[in-house]
Amino acid sequence: MPASRVPNSSIPDSPVEHLTPVNQFKRDLPLFGLSVWASRFKHLLCLVFPLTTLSFLITGLFIEKAPLSIMTNLIFTVPFWSVLIADWFCPQEKAAADTQHSSLFFNAILCVLTVIQFLNVFLMLDYVALLRWDTVDNSLIGLANLIGIRFLVGTSSGTSGIVLAHELIHRENRGWQSAGRLLLCTVYYEHFVITHKRGHHLNLGMPDDIATAKLGESFKDYWRRIYIGYFKYAWQSERERVAALNSNKAGLLQNQVVQGIAVETVLLIAIVTHWGWLAAFMFLYQAWVAVRILEAVNYFQHWGLEDGQFGNTYGWVCPSWISRYALIGLSHHIGHHQDENSRFYEIPYSDQGPMLPYGYFVMNLWVKLFNDSYQKMAVRELEKYQRSPCD
Ligand SMILES: [Zn+2]
Repeated sequence: MPASRVPNSSIPDSPVEHLTPVNQFKRDLPLFGLSVWASRFKHLLCLVFPLTTLSFLITGLFIEKAPLSIMTNLIFTVPFWSVLIADWFCPQEKAAADTQHSSLFFNAILCVLTVIQFLNVFLMLDYVALLRWDTVDNSLIGLANLIGIRFLVGTSSGTSGIVLAHELIHRENRGWQSAGRLLLCTVYYEHFVITHKRGHHLNLGMPDDIATAKLGESFKDYWRRIYIGYFKYAWQSERERVAALNSNKAGLLQNQVVQGIAVETVLLIAIVTHWGWLAAFMFLYQAWVAVRILEAVNYFQHWGLEDGQFGNTYGWVCPSWISRYALIGLSHHIGHHQDENSRFYEIPYSDQGPMLPYGYFVMNLWVKLFNDSYQKMAVRELEKYQRSPCD
């Protein structure tokens, strides 16, 4: 749906009055004395997954100097399950834009997240090279560590690396944009820049937007449609843009998709050469896991909203406090489409859309593991939104 179809006035000034309780189990933050802790450290929640992953890799590589035991691998997954459970109970956000901190503070968070994402991917390669396969015991430990790496690095790349890249590619500054594109190379998905900014943001909800999941479309079908579809769109779009530049010099090098493929290919060759085939496989595997997380989010953010058939809205509403801060504002998706240049901490909350019953972490698993039940819920919520009076 183009920006002009949803008037600015549809975004409420005060999110508090419009917040709809999702279910009776969800609690406001002041309960349990959490409010002080939450308001002080909420912006650091986005560091939990990447820091846990970094700690895992550093423990194995530099402290133990050996692959970690199966039990230690399990212990390092605890923060992930904790966030998932917290997201299930989903305390709701009651504040709008953050005015407590300067933009310097927020940019520092983005810099730290960027460094950690690169560190995690490169330390992972060293870690995989550390694994031994000469005895049965070593092979078992090796396998457990590969599963641990898949879980930790893949989830961190999907919930931090790509989310961070999304924030950076929307910045006007070329330096930030380049960092965003390089981050996307760590998950082999650089062409997402073109598909997302040129395709999704300009054609949201229209037939041309392949990123809007159709009513009744399963995640499996959506994934099959967009995984190649994104690339085709980006390739075609860049070919047309470069052709329109009317420059006969180095046309191919001006093509951003070609630039992305070049960097990703060099990266993969360097990994195979320096760390070997298993490291290269794990690099691609964590990238696949990360992109599946991103696309599950894209799937439920706009599911069933093509052609405005259930009313005017930019997307599904998510009031989860955990999702907002752990995913640097990603869950305020309506506000993001309202103004794609807003910084992550400035994006307002809006309830002008159908309501997700849980935060993004729970939804990510739900759409993949129990898609039929997700779709039943989604249709009910869409019909409820359609019946609700317009403000
Ligand atoms: Zn965007």
